[in-house]
Amino acid sequence: MGTIADNLARIRQTLPEGVTLVAVSKFHPVEMIREAYEAGQRIFGESRPQEMVAKWKVMPDDIQWHMIGHLQTNKIKYIAPFVAMIHSIDSWHLAEAIDREAAKVERTLDVLLQLHIAQEETKFGWDAVELERFLREGMLQGLSHLRIRGLMGMASLTDDTEQVSGEFRRLHETFVRFRDQFLPAMDTLSMGMSGDYPLALEQGSTLVRIGSSIFGERQY
Ligand SMILES: *Cc1c(COP(=O)(O)O)cnc(C)c1O
Repeated sequence: MGTIADNLARIRQTLPEGVTLVAVSKFHPVEMIREAYEAGQRIFGESRPQEMVAKWKVMPDDIQWHMIGHLQTNKIKYIAPFVAMIHSIDSWHLAEAIDREAAKVERTLDVLLQLHIAQEETKFGWDAVELERFLREGMLQGLSHLRIRGLMGMASLTDDTEQVSGEFRRLHETFVRFRDQFLPAMDTLSMGMSGDYPLALEQGSTLVRIGSSIFGERQY
């Protein structure tokens, strides 16, 4: 494993034009974020609100912080004033709560709707049928402090590349369908992590969330 700057350069070379790289810095110290920052990286992903706030306070203002982890409603208020994008809206209850907290700080937040695409039960996310119902009824579009930019999904953790590709392909199909039917402004499809992002890119990902291939293994 090279330096953080080397890793970033290597990964950036593999990303097509127009694909956004979120450097997932969760569980890594600010020194490592600073190294990535000095190598030009400006978008970082975190999974826990308190950790994101602590890092936001000490790091430069031009960083865009993306919340990629499961979010509890009582934690939204900590990140609402500054978060650049929330990837992990997985229920109507959470969508409403984020809308409310965004209104309080007079912001309109860029958000993604997380779909459950993996076979594992453990992963979070909306069921596509249920999400479609909320879109068909115009419920999500009615939340005026959310700007729904797209969808996010996590594929199964498996070596079976056919399965992973299939999950990404279906997410892309759902993205296109929902965009054409309900949300013409959607422009972001967040899929792909260190282990599977090349497959995600093949299936039309516009944003990859990469942690360990940049920063190494996490110390939990
Ligand atoms: C941790 C995490 C990642 C990054 O995973 P790596 O395998 O380290 O690249 C991406 N997306 C989400 C939602 C995560 O929680």
